[in-house]
Amino acid sequence: MWIDTHAHLDMPEFSKDLNLVIERAAEERVQSIITVGVDLKSSKRAVQLAEIYPLVYAAVGIHPHEATGFVEVALEDLARIAQNQKVVAWGEIGLDFFKLYSPVQDQMRAFEAQLQMATDLKLPVIIHDRDSHEDTLKALKRFGRRDRAGVVHCYSGDMALAQQLFALGFFISIPGIVTYKKADLVKEIASGVPLERILIETDAPFLSPAPFRGKRNEPAFVPITGREIARLRGLSEEKFAEATTANAKYLFGI
Ligand SMILES: [Zn+2]
Ligand SMILES: [Zn+2]
Repeated sequence: MWIDTHAHLDMPEFSKDLNLVIERAAEERVQSIITVGVDLKSSKRAVQLAEIYPLVYAAVGIHPHEATGFVEVALEDLARIAQNQKVVAWGEIGLDFFKLYSPVQDQMRAFEAQLQMATDLKLPVIIHDRDSHEDTLKALKRFGRRDRAGVVHCYSGDMALAQQLFALGFFISIPGIVTYKKADLVKEIASGVPLERILIETDAPFLSPAPFRGKRNEPAFVPITGREIARLRGLSEEKFAEATTANAKYLFGI
């Protein structure tokens, strides 16, 4: 059985056929899906979906793209819906200096406030870090080591950064990019990090693994990513599925 630790089931790409998407995931032995909020509205929707579908869990948070206009009061609303039993993490939060849809100082402010809230609520965090490794690590270090601290999703850093994250209690999550021909660094990381620190994800509807690259991604495709990493590591599919599923269950308390 597999767990898709990062999907966006609330996005319009799934509005027409979500029932079928969930059914296909179950057929492919995906036992749980974590659907991740990017703002207050999508976080609310994530929690609703988790209430409707037994295999869906939710994370609530404000994405760095949505950091402009972030107000402290939104935190109160999110903290309230985070009380729902099926909310297993705070996220996604973090920094994105690649797209820079929000100015850096807005991103930093939203990130730090949410790290504090997640720490107070004892929830693991789901981190988005794109072209912002140094500042992300600095912020995480300020909050110190925590058991089950969280996950850096769509991991794009090197091994040295991964080691520092592990020391802080973090996991890293590998998306379908690992199936692309030219993804040398992601392949190196996916095959080299300790087995007990790795998770897998789709980031659906984005980042479909080969051979579906460019098409809509969905949780049923997460085993493709899992199989590729198992192959890179010289492990059986079963063994790798078992390990990453155990990691996800441990981190998110599922
Ligand atoms: Zn992200
Ligand atoms: Zn995401």
